[in-house]
Amino acid sequence: MNDVTQFTRADWQARAAALRFRNEIWIDGRAVPAASGARFESVNPASGAVLTDVARGGAEDIDRAVASARRAFEDGRWSRKTPAERKEVLLRLAALIRENVPELALLDSLDMGKLVKDAATIDAPGSAHFFQWHAEAIDKLYDEIAPTGGRDLAMIRRVPLGVIGAVVPWNFPLDMATWKLAPALATGNSVVLKPAEQSPLSALRLAELAAEAGLPDGVLNVVPGFGEDAGQALGRHADVDCLVFTGSTAVGKMFQRYAGESNMKQVWLETGGKSPNLIFPDADLDAAADMAAFGIFFNQGEVCSANSRMLVHASIAEEMIERMAARAAQAQPGDPLDPASAMGPLVDRKHADTVMGFIASGKQAGRLVCGGERIARDASDAYVQPTIFTDLRPDARVVREEIFGPVLTIQTFKTEDEALAMANDSPYALAASVWTRDLGRALSVSDRLNAGTVSVNTVDALSAMTPFGGMKQSGFGRDLSIHSFDKYSALKTTWIKY
Ligand code: NAP
Ligand code: MG
Repeated sequence: MNDVTQFTRADWQARAAALRFRNEIWIDGRAVPAASGARFESVNPASGAVLTDVARGGAEDIDRAVASARRAFEDGRWSRKTPAERKEVLLRLAALIRENVPELALLDSLDMGKLVKDAATIDAPGSAHFFQWHAEAIDKLYDEIAPTGGRDLAMIRRVPLGVIGAVVPWNFPLDMATWKLAPALATGNSVVLKPAEQSPLSALRLAELAAEAGLPDGVLNVVPGFGEDAGQALGRHADVDCLVFTGSTAVGKMFQRYAGESNMKQVWLETGGKSPNLIFPDADLDAAADMAAFGIFFNQGEVCSANSRMLVHASIAEEMIERMAARAAQAQPGDPLDPASAMGPLVDRKHADTVMGFIASGKQAGRLVCGGERIARDASDAYVQPTIFTDLRPDARVVREEIFGPVLTIQTFKTEDEALAMANDSPYALAASVWTRDLGRALSVSDRLNAGTVSVNTVDALSAMTPFGGMKQSGFGRDLSIHSFDKYSALKTTWIKY
């Protein structure tokens, strides 16, 4: 009955028709309109239809949300609960997310175009899992006593920071919010979350589920709105202790500036990527092609760690290009509610325009292997074909810049050193993959690749147990794993002489 893998397109359509959208700002445990009364449209990119109009939060709403978060933090209704008590609430939230997987999956799918079958089997269960993982971890972390000796006791404890501002993108709306919220809440902070303007709906529903789970009012506030006003107001707010961000490198740099020009709040950034995927001749080429196709076409290529640059040894280049073209032919986009579709539309028409601009530049800079066209369907023109380029100049924009769409470049190398030089020649350093059966090569190449995560004989390896994040202009700080708690806590020393 609730086995989402058995749902048909008609099942999803019926559920979509019955959805009720939460479209107000969530402050102090209540849904309220924007102080200005402004609203904006939430559009389904698969059809261009307006789903609902959402309260457009601005500086005044951010101010109210921060004040609510501050009150909640200072009176200790959450921050002074024991870790075990916080665990119980967050475990209830994980359970509620699991009970509401079809609804949460639909909200993200309708809002930003991802396949509902992926949202229902990956994103929404993932959110439940990440809340559960961080909840279960929080009462198993011990603090420290310094080895002073003598009649001194120096306790080093992890304490919450206070009010966290979180600004997240639209590509995994529920999960990007979760990656921030789970560790931030587990450590006892209060949070003001600003979801992306393209995808506010699942975050608003999540806030309601958190309240149902027993999260006290004011501990989690969600302010939908635009980056320039709500996002900037949060970044510049004098009473926000720490700003965590996932999004583009350009906006990440703005948050550093906002902090420097306001209260020097901590800033942690997960930003863009242009991840290389190195294929050596001894690799299992079929497995490499399957995973490389997943790595660039999953979620329409709107993935920060998408392996968008394939670097393949010259001796197997033609074979790999053929394999990838065949995989691309299988990855044609369609209705996101249809379980038979391989991709959905891009997030909106504007982003599709940007991706088509990259494709036009690629056609000038190299050889188009397949795809390269926009597809009109169901009154939407946000669909773009899976696209592959090769024979590119190394300075081509499609090789250098993050496209954030289903566009793969394939370049060739002759030696390991040349492969590494090409792979590391990027302002980004988020993820990388290596395909080889030679363990020595796997390790030495992994050591020399600039990336937060190197996957060997797979792509995009990721779990709650391992830190996720980048180096260089892909950002700093880590989501997931025990290390994510570091971003949301300070070390406090209490020194007792006795
Ligand atoms: P984006 O344009 O940087 O937006 C991210 C968030 O920042 C949104 O909530 C956005 O609000 C807000 N924002 C935009 N301009 C702002 C400003 N001037 N001041 C304050 N806030 C502002 O990124 P996106 O297009 O949504 O997402 C795609 C990007 O995210 C890609 O670069 C991708 O690599 C990156 N990403 C990185 C990771 C990672 O973990 N490294 C994961 C996922 C995505 P609006 O909604 O109003 O624009
Ligand atoms: Mg944006």
